[in-house]
Amino acid sequence: MTELETQLLETQKQVQEALATVTNESELEECRAKFLGRKGLLPALMSQLGKVPKEEKPAVGKTLNAVKNSVQEAFDACAAKIKESKEEQEALDISLPARHHAIGHKHPISLVMDRAVAIFRSMGFIVADGPDLENVWNNFDALNAPQDHPSRTPEDTFYFDLDKRHWLDPETMILRTQTSPVQIRSMKAQQPPVRIVCPGRCYRRDTPDATHGMSFHQIEGLYVDENVSLADLKGTLAVFSREMFGPNTKIRFRPHFFPFTEPSVECDASCIVCGGTGCRVCKGSGWIEIAGAGMVNPAVFKNVGYDTEKVSGFAFGLGIERIAMIRYSINDLRLLYDNDVRFLHQF
Ligand SMILES: [Zn+2]
Repeated sequence: MTELETQLLETQKQVQEALATVTNESELEECRAKFLGRKGLLPALMSQLGKVPKEEKPAVGKTLNAVKNSVQEAFDACAAKIKESKEEQEALDISLPARHHAIGHKHPISLVMDRAVAIFRSMGFIVADGPDLENVWNNFDALNAPQDHPSRTPEDTFYFDLDKRHWLDPETMILRTQTSPVQIRSMKAQQPPVRIVCPGRCYRRDTPDATHGMSFHQIEGLYVDENVSLADLKGTLAVFSREMFGPNTKIRFRPHFFPFTEPSVECDASCIVCGGTGCRVCKGSGWIEIAGAGMVNPAVFKNVGYDTEKVSGFAFGLGIERIAMIRYSINDLRLLYDNDVRFLHQF
């Protein structure tokens, strides 16, 4: 091996050692200048090829080419490595702000339902549950609904199997039109005292508009014991209204008629927007209707086998969508069901 070949191989080794310590582009360029630059070590050696004796030239030239290729490859590999690690660092830039992950949250209907349940639980009510698919007896007959009540017709209620059964048949199945059948189920299952709330979904054949939907949510309450009075009902709804709408909320009762209560009332709360002076939301009256209620009709107690001489009770029903609309100033019920995230993000 000639002196030149030894130097070439030695330089190749130096290049490899130098490149092994290179970590960035400026170090790489420094290295490139040292070995490959105009005054670099390798061109200097290559210029000596001319002085090599003619018979040795082919062998030395071959070594020189091999060294040149190997050095070029080493520089290319090093450059690729630096580029890759730079890209990796950019992808993992820990100084960048954290990526935002949209986390889901409760729907306004659920928020109001959960709040209502919590308020009634704090007053000693327990939650009772029942199926959405009910029979006519539990939904209408047991609740003293007259056979000719318009809400019982197939135009108002979703019936099943009408080709096999009549819609007045107590066994016919329907989508419950109220959560009241859960009260019937609870009373049939236990003796007084009963103090329950029944939150759930109900179904009616309404044409959807700003204040009606084919499906909606209710929470109903029932308290049966000795000496339960209308004053207990009023106190319960007053506490609920203050907890739900604010500490200054007042309530009032207006006489009404429901088949399953006697006497029956509609309960209004003072308008949470204007406080009772009158505004667009309360249509100038200062009051907003929030519940239907009353003392349980003795006919209902007879249907479930309770002794009407011993016990009395009150029942009430609240529309969850209606409360959500009042509480959050929503003017169209359908917004609650469109599930537009721009709307839902506001709660
Ligand atoms: Zn008002």
